[in-house]
Formats: sequence, structure tokens, C-alpha cells
Amino acid sequence: MNTEIAPGSASGIDTAPYVRLFARYLKDQGLPTTQQREAVAETVFRSSSHLSVEDIERQLRDAGERIGKATIYRTLDLLVRSRLVEEHDFEEGFKRYEHRLSREPVHAHLVCTETGRIIEFRSEEVERIVGEVAARHGFETSHHKLVIFGLSKEAKEAGAQMAYEGITCPIDAL
Ligand SMILES: [Zn+2]
Repeated sequence: MNTEIAPGSASGIDTAPYVRLFARYLKDQGLPTTQQREAVAETVFRSSSHLSVEDIERQLRDAGERIGKATIYRTLDLLVRSRLVEEHDFEEGFKRYEHRLSREPVHAHLVCTETGRIIEFRSEEVERIVGEVAARHGFETSHHKLVIFGLSKEAKEAGAQMAYEGITCPIDAL
């Protein structure tokens, strides 16, 4: 069964317990919990979308926080290592971040290369196949990522066409 996950399903969550979890992780690592680190973490936990560093910087600025990009990058790195936040590469030339709290932690993404729209879905069939393939190879899975690139319905309706890159002649013609 495929289920599209409604965007915004995690908005309005109480972020304080998660900020405390992050603070505990920092303490375990022997790192100080600074107000800036907490502000970056809070911004990611509060959001229900896939944020770029630019998005995070803008939201912090709008909230009156002056936090440099280097601090944002370092804090995101710590958040990813703590496994509270997941890093994504949607082939845009930069990374995106989403927290793994209070919503389906295991989900796949459809990325529209024209509009940038990201559709999340979860599929029991995909999970089953991943499990079967791993078992067949005697492989122990820690996690997996599935990103499907292409054109969304809206992009196609607006006339967008698939841009093919790379070699266009068939390899077997060589
Ligand atoms: Zn997602």
C-alpha cells in the first residue's frame, strides 16, 4: 500500500522535549549546549518541510536570531549525527534537512525537477522488497533512502517536458 504523507502533518509540535534530547546528546559527546545550537535545532524541529541551510538561516533571521552559516552547518552536522535529523540530497547542489520526530521516520520522496515539489510517501511493499533483497545477500540494513526524480502532475500540466541529459544514442549501436 502506498500512502502519501500530508505536508504539514508535524507542524505545531512541542519542540522542547526534542531540544532537550539534542542537549543530552551534546552532553554525551562532551559538547556544550549553546543558545545558538538550540535555536538551530528548534528551527528544524518546528518545521514540517525539507529545509535548506538558506531556509534555516532565513527563519532564524526572521525570529531575530543572528547566527552565521558556519554555526548552522556545524549544528546540522551534529543533529544528523545524533540521528534526530535526516540529511537529503535531492540533486539541487545543496542538502536539505528534516527531523525524524513524530511522523513516519521511514518514508520515500518524489522530487519534481521542474518545480522542486517534494512528495513524501511510505510503502509497505518497498519496505518488504528492501528486506527481501537484503536477506538474499545476507546484508544487515541500517537504513535506506529512496528518491524518485521526475515531473509532477502540475509541472506536466503546465507544459514541462522531461529534460534528458547524457548520451542520446543507444549504447548497443556502438
Ligand atoms: Zn521527507
